[in-house]
This record gives sequence, C-alpha cells and structure tokens, in this order.
Amino acid sequence: MQQLDGPWQTLTMKSSLSQADLLHQLIDEAEAIVIGVGAGLSAAAGFTYAGRRFTDAFPDFIAKYRFLDMLQASLFNFEDEQEYWAFQSRFSLLNFFDQPVGQAYIDLRNLMSGKNYHIITTNADNAFYAAKFDMDNVFRIQGEYGLWQCSEHCHQETYHDEALIRQMVREQSNMKIPESLVPHCPKCGAGLEINKRNEEKGMVEDAHFHEQKERYEQFLKENEDKKVLFLEIGVGHTTPQFIKHPFQQMTQENTKALFVTMNQRDYFIPRAIRPQTVRIDEDIADVLHTMADE
Ligand SMILES: [Zn+2]
Repeated sequence: MQQLDGPWQTLTMKSSLSQADLLHQLIDEAEAIVIGVGAGLSAAAGFTYAGRRFTDAFPDFIAKYRFLDMLQASLFNFEDEQEYWAFQSRFSLLNFFDQPVGQAYIDLRNLMSGKNYHIITTNADNAFYAAKFDMDNVFRIQGEYGLWQCSEHCHQETYHDEALIRQMVREQSNMKIPESLVPHCPKCGAGLEINKRNEEKGMVEDAHFHEQKERYEQFLKENEDKKVLFLEIGVGHTTPQFIKHPFQQMTQENTKALFVTMNQRDYFIPRAIRPQTVRIDEDIADVLHTMADE
C-alpha cells in the first residue's frame, strides 16, 4: 500500500472499513502499541463474574449473603478469616490457578505477534499467563489473585501457596476452612490476604511488581515520540487512574498518538483528544477474532 504524508492514513478510509478492518490496519500502521486491558476483555473471553460461573461455584455464599456477583462477593468483609479463605480459596482456583485459556486472549496474543507492544492490565486473574503471553510485556497493576500480602501491609513482600489453596478448598465445610490452615504474616503474625489494592492502605507492591512497572515505564519512554496506538480494551470507569486517564493524557501530549477505545459503553472523551480518538463499539471477542483470523 502506498504511504501518503501524515500519520494514520487508515483514518482517511475510515468510513469504508468495518470496525475490525479499521482497527487491524491501525495496529499495522502503529510504531508502538500500548494496550490497556480491563474486566471487559476477561468477560469477552467468558470469565464473567455473574451468571452460572458464579452461581455454580458459590451457591452457599449466595444463599447466606445474597451476593449479586463475584466482584461484590470478593470485596465483602467476611465474618472471620476461616470464612474469608473458604471463599477466596474457591475464588482463586476459579479465577487463577484453574483458569482455562480464553479465546479472546489467544486472539490478542496472535495479533500482537511480532509487534512492538506492551500491556497494562487492572485484571488480577491469570488470563494472560494461560494464553501464553510473554509476561515481560504485561504489567499487572492491581496485583494477582494467586499472591498474598500481609493484611497490615507491614512489609512489601508477597507470598503464594497453591497447594494450601487446594487444601483449603478440599477441607472446608459450612463455608469455613479449618483454623489450622489460616495463613499468617511471617513478620508480624497478622492474617495474610489476597494481594489487592484497597482504598485505605493501597496494595503491597513487591520486587516483581516494581520490575513490571519499570518495564512498562521504559516502554512508554522509548516510544513517547512515535506513532503510538493507545488501545483500551474493556476498560470501565471503576479505576480510571490506572489506564483510562493516563492513556488520554499521553494521547494529548503526543500529536502523533491515537486513542482507540473498545467498549460498548460510550464513556466521556475529553474534547482535546476527540480528533485523536476512535471508538470500537462492536463485540470485543468478535472484533478480536475477526482480526486474528485475517
Ligand atoms: Zn505483617
């Protein structure tokens, strides 16, 4: 194809292309791709937090607490640590240790093959690992369900014990694990908890977290003057400070950058970057699959 002057030639043909073709050509045209992945991609891959996947795994918790979905349940203040771990151990198997590979993630990985890309995600599930992404290209900014932190955040290290999680699932009854299985912080003795951010204390960020963060920041720096495609996939408005707002800010700071948002919801786009914004509102899984097939 003949390259005309100016960035993003694909946009001049925008009206004649399907959304999948448009995005595919933008990806091919980009010099660097920064992908922000939210819960919408895991939902598109079938890892939904409501419906059968939830009701099959937690009928007892739903009966007791009338939970509406797994997100609400995972943030609930359980009555004690034995109940907390009865829930979290089952949740960890479902959304991390036993999480199957998702087609939408495979499609995204295939699309990025040979590309100059980096991913930041607020998802703490294991979907990128299951789909065999190069994890050096993925920054999990909201922790991982397979990791634990001191509930007092007394030190910046994380722990993991998959065998103990499986034992908790096997040996629990009446929504309680045996007291002897409750894990404690080796430094201060407080209970451990899943590695995640909360409003008061933030999140325990270990050395591995900081390595991921440095690689991501390095990628942004190396590509800051290029034709960068900021591709947001299934990012809602729960934590806009991690993906949505920085992507919009970086787009505004680079006249060659383009902000592409894949979302069926029409979120507010700041006026300054509207000319640099493309919205893909068709089904995420369908668009990724069409592109990966081409
Ligand atoms: Zn501690």
